[in-house]
Amino acid sequence: MKQELKAFGTIELSRKTLQAVEAMGFEEPSPIQAQTIPLALEGHDVIGQAQTGTGKTAAFGIPTVEKVAEKVPHIQALVLSPTRELAIQTAEELNKIGQFKHVRTLPVYGGQAIDRQIRALKRGVHIIVGTPGRLIDHLNRGTIKLEEVQTLVLDEADEMLDMGFIDDIERILKTIPAERQTLLFSATMPAPIEKLSRRYMNHPQRVTIARENLTVPLIDQIYYETREKFEGLCRVLDVEETGKLIIFCRTKRAVDELVSSLDARGYSAGGLHGDLSQVQRDRVMKKFREGRIDILIATDVAARGIDIDDITHVINYDIPQDHESYVHRIGRTGRAGRTGVAMTFIQPKEYRQLRLIMKLAHTKIQRRELPTASDLLEHQKSLVQERLMKTLQQNHYDDYHTVIADVAAEGYDLVDIAAAALKLSIEGFKDAEEEQATASEGFGDTGGAPGMVRLFLNIGRSQKIVRRMWYGPLRPRQISRATPSASSTSTTSSPLWKCRKMWLSGS
Ligand code: AMP
Repeated sequence: MKQELKAFGTIELSRKTLQAVEAMGFEEPSPIQAQTIPLALEGHDVIGQAQTGTGKTAAFGIPTVEKVAEKVPHIQALVLSPTRELAIQTAEELNKIGQFKHVRTLPVYGGQAIDRQIRALKRGVHIIVGTPGRLIDHLNRGTIKLEEVQTLVLDEADEMLDMGFIDDIERILKTIPAERQTLLFSATMPAPIEKLSRRYMNHPQRVTIARENLTVPLIDQIYYETREKFEGLCRVLDVEETGKLIIFCRTKRAVDELVSSLDARGYSAGGLHGDLSQVQRDRVMKKFREGRIDILIATDVAARGIDIDDITHVINYDIPQDHESYVHRIGRTGRAGRTGVAMTFIQPKEYRQLRLIMKLAHTKIQRRELPTASDLLEHQKSLVQERLMKTLQQNHYDDYHTVIADVAAEGYDLVDIAAAALKLSIEGFKDAEEEQATASEGFGDTGGAPGMVRLFLNIGRSQKIVRRMWYGPLRPRQISRATPSASSTSTTSSPLWKCRKMWLSGS
């Protein structure tokens, strides 16, 4: 029976590799890692059906790095990648895994000056991640020698096949000692890949992510595709009416980073992950339950114990590693008969992984475009309208009647007066010149305007400043969005109302 890896610490990994996995913020092995790593460490050839987003790089990267004898200055492992982007990314991940063991990985790909690669190769490299064409170039020049290779990884084999690399791969395979371990990863297993595996692999063990019957909750499931996930997230948070929401990140470090980034933008978020003590976790959970923070950012492991009924939104800031994780994550919302929304952010390269999740979880996740600047404006307007109506209903504005009556007596239309009053209260007073400049200058969708001061308020949770302390018709989400890339940094102990006034009026 196949052994499964429950935790990184329970397997014979060297201290340095474990330390690297810890530093990378991984809490537990992903499903593909749990199955692949023990088999690979035992020396088996492995065929893994997995794609980007499942943790497949570390699934082959951890055993590959583990096997390298770092004192031996030869190329001991070769990873074949279909594209330069993947080669670069994979080499980065392998360098992280090998950071304490001092295992050096070099990406070689077409498009980069070959001389530079040759110089880097001369400095000594243990692992090469290469695209087939460039590798053959190096083999022809004699600048890469593969006689000492003990581990060969074919990554995204079906992609390499689609890109017409099959002959190149066979050529490369023939230059590597037959006495080696071969790991092959592919999202699909078309016939030519099966044939390749039969010819060049030694009794390969197959690893797939198990299909399980899971019940997907009846909630709205949508996804956003963007390269700028953080900006996208802020926009969504600004327009979406949310109650309590959980944001999932893949690593402990990612949780900490997102908490600080959101804090810096004025959102009140708390993080939850395995490095926190029980007391710290309890504190965050208490605040979340009591509504003192409304965004909880967690890793899968940390979120497991959470039992809260009124979560309105689950946001997958990092795509889940498999469909089970997806279903578990989104199951946190839509409980107890309530409605819920699950949103998933993906980068373009993760689309295949999303499709696989949909297929295996038998669910449909609808694509939605990120809110635009004009959506944000519309949202602000409707917010102002709502608050205006409430103010009217409360009926406590007699003191201002005489002002309006006096202005109306000057011959102005009442609707115009009301609109001007609203503009004044939101934007502050602008003279004619400023108005003109605002209209002509390109401030994009920052909300900025001439006469305003860009302030970065370096205050947040640690100063016990939470969202509720902001006031006015705009929510802090929108106010803080107006200062995304503050050019001047200033810390201040002024009361918040004063800071906001400074931003809005430039005083
Ligand atoms: P991959 O599928 O290899 O492209 O990995 C996708 C992302 O998941 C990368 O950013 C990895 O660093 C990250 N990752 C891999 N394994 C784990 C793990 N066990 N826990 C958390 N993140 C992981």
